[in-house]
Amino acid sequence: MNTCHIHINGLVQGVGFRPYVYQLASKHGLTGWVSNSNTGVHIECSGSTTQIHAFYDELIQTPPANAIISSHELTVIDTQYFDNFSIQQSNESEKPDLLLTPDIAICDNCHSELLSVTNKRYRYPFTTCLHCGPRYSISHALPYDREHTSMKEYEMCPSCSNEYNDVYDRRHYSQTNSCKDCAVNMHFYTSPTNCLSSDSNEILDFIQQELSRGCILAVKGIGGYLLIADASNEKTIATLRTRKQRPSKPFALLYKNIEQASADVLLTKAEAMALKSKISPIVLCRLKENHSNQVYLKGIAPGLNKIGIMLPYAPLLLLIAEQFNKPLIATSANISGAPIIYKDQDALENLFDIADYVVSYDRDILTPQDDSVVQFTNKGHKIILRRSRGLAPNYFPNPFPTTNTVQLAMGAELKSAFALQDQHKLFISQFLGDQSTLESQQCFKETLQHIIRLLKSTVATILVDAHPTYAISGYGKELAQANQIPIVSIQHHKAHFAAVLAENNLLHTALPILGFIWDGTGFGEDKQIWGGEVFIYDNKAMKRVAHLSYFPQLLGDKMSKEPRIAALSLLKAHPDKMHLIQKYFSKQEWNYYQQLNQQSASLLTSSMGRFIDGIAALLGLQLYNTYEGEAALQLEVLAQSASNKPSEFYPLPLVGEQLDITVFIKGLIADIELGVNSATIAWKVFFSLAHTIGELANHFQIDALAFSGGIFQNALLNDIIIERLSYRKKLYFHQQLSPNDECIGLGQLAYQNMTMLQPSLQNTSINQLSAPPFQSTF
Ligand SMILES: [Zn+2]
Ligand SMILES: [Zn+2]
Repeated sequence: MNTCHIHINGLVQGVGFRPYVYQLASKHGLTGWVSNSNTGVHIECSGSTTQIHAFYDELIQTPPANAIISSHELTVIDTQYFDNFSIQQSNESEKPDLLLTPDIAICDNCHSELLSVTNKRYRYPFTTCLHCGPRYSISHALPYDREHTSMKEYEMCPSCSNEYNDVYDRRHYSQTNSCKDCAVNMHFYTSPTNCLSSDSNEILDFIQQELSRGCILAVKGIGGYLLIADASNEKTIATLRTRKQRPSKPFALLYKNIEQASADVLLTKAEAMALKSKISPIVLCRLKENHSNQVYLKGIAPGLNKIGIMLPYAPLLLLIAEQFNKPLIATSANISGAPIIYKDQDALENLFDIADYVVSYDRDILTPQDDSVVQFTNKGHKIILRRSRGLAPNYFPNPFPTTNTVQLAMGAELKSAFALQDQHKLFISQFLGDQSTLESQQCFKETLQHIIRLLKSTVATILVDAHPTYAISGYGKELAQANQIPIVSIQHHKAHFAAVLAENNLLHTALPILGFIWDGTGFGEDKQIWGGEVFIYDNKAMKRVAHLSYFPQLLGDKMSKEPRIAALSLLKAHPDKMHLIQKYFSKQEWNYYQQLNQQSASLLTSSMGRFIDGIAALLGLQLYNTYEGEAALQLEVLAQSASNKPSEFYPLPLVGEQLDITVFIKGLIADIELGVNSATIAWKVFFSLAHTIGELANHFQIDALAFSGGIFQNALLNDIIIERLSYRKKLYFHQQLSPNDECIGLGQLAYQNMTMLQPSLQNTSINQLSAPPFQSTF
């Protein structure tokens, strides 16, 4: 007879770990106990050495489905005698050292119970079990126990208590357990002060009836409110667009199941698996030519060849989708630019401007999350476009060495997400939106405070983007001052590069890596706007070795909203071709802009985003962006539609450190003037960029290439790069994170870690580092 203590860390709470241990220990004939603590799961068990090892091996090799074991340790202790095996009360005295369990999409068992007329939970919109339901969104403290969640105030009825205490029940120790007899209450509001019903069956019938009548409903989901409407109703969609002030940004659709979705979109195996996964993200899928659900596509995804679709991940959404039996629009409920609304009071105060009804329930959402968004390229390469519900906030495994101090990286402004390294754990928050609005800033602060409170972290260093006017960097400075801790600012594109290096465990690599960091905007070390950058990572240091040749950044941010102004800037070097775009301006505008363009520019940019915008406008494709990246997306769609895809390119020669865009634009204009089909020109644009990547790799004689920045959300560009280069180069893309600015927080941590690897630089302020000039000819 021996006794052992087993300590298991990782994602081990809220996934049915204790009941699983209980069953396994009983199966192996062990006595003892299991308990949750802030440092993971602890087990003490007595039995023969063979029994204990058989139990331990099985537990580690086949843990519960949703668990992640990050570390495990078995220690032999003094022999103890127990009467049985039991689940003990949680111990919460220590500082948390855990991964945070994300919200888990409804499981197959709960799904079928929900639709089974004879089941106790038939049509109960908040059914959950050990294997599914909200976790992160309802937790206010650790360890994960009912009293630390917004289920605290609900007392289980006798029947639910029986399930909770029955070791062989799927709801044994299920902290979110409830049923119709101990229900989370729903409310159907017709105005901020009028609740028409609080009966869930009646409410579900109302929802069905009002959706059919073409109404727009704001429904409380898992991470916040969603706007739901009939996806086939042209008039409703037009109303939604007007009320939401969202003229053309695509809406995601909710289908009741894969079969229903398959009538409208082509699904690969990987896409279907992603849709049905416990993360249940929005997946961008290719439209079928003859789609059959009568979805009003022109209104849903104007001009695009893919739509974002998802399956119901919460029982309430499943009931709505089953009952309506046609595709529904399901989009985050927010007021343009502001973050998703998740508090009931905010919903009632604000959402009646957009929705006809507000459907709410009493279980509080404690931290907001949008739906995550992912796409797969034609070659099957996965690109995360938004990392939120189901994916955030864990980042595992942590690529950095364990530290004694906590580092907080504030991330970037437009697609914000912060990153926090605490000892050996790494957390990257959900997408927190564009930080230019006060509401977003508030939401960022609340989410940051929420995670810091959950983890009981004491931040020792703050990392911010070097941009002088980012609100989020300003907040970082405030925090640093208030807490009297150091702050380090890091250049945007270097953070991007460091992020993709860290994601591929390359910070320690001995081989040089060429990084292509292409996005819209980042504040450069020469105080210009960077965005079409090429770096070399070698010997644990980064050098900027090439960039798009500078062109004027006209009218500040207005140029990112109006591709026609980017075109004007690109044509500054081609004054005899200005007539090509004159028709896109009024006479008055034209005179003004001509004068402006003749002055010497005070601010220059090497932005790949603006370069592509300008090309989209030159082709007459997109003159204004109504949402970020619209012109680039339309150019991608146009390029994909090309029937002729020649292996021809517009040259982008390297002159000094600048990739000369005037040569590229000259070739492109020649094609326009020759009357080459604009889809072919669009194709040649992306083909040329991939070609340039190959040429630069040859020029610098580097065989490992890494890619980061919003431009690499482009599925076509990724595929051309993979097709042309993967057989002779090693290609590194983002893995768990998006290539867009949501990866900047990780990148800031990675850059800081990188500088720690350089002994000579440890005491140098990162602000003062600048890349030495790199001599080269192309
Ligand atoms: Zn379940
Ligand atoms: Zn109950």
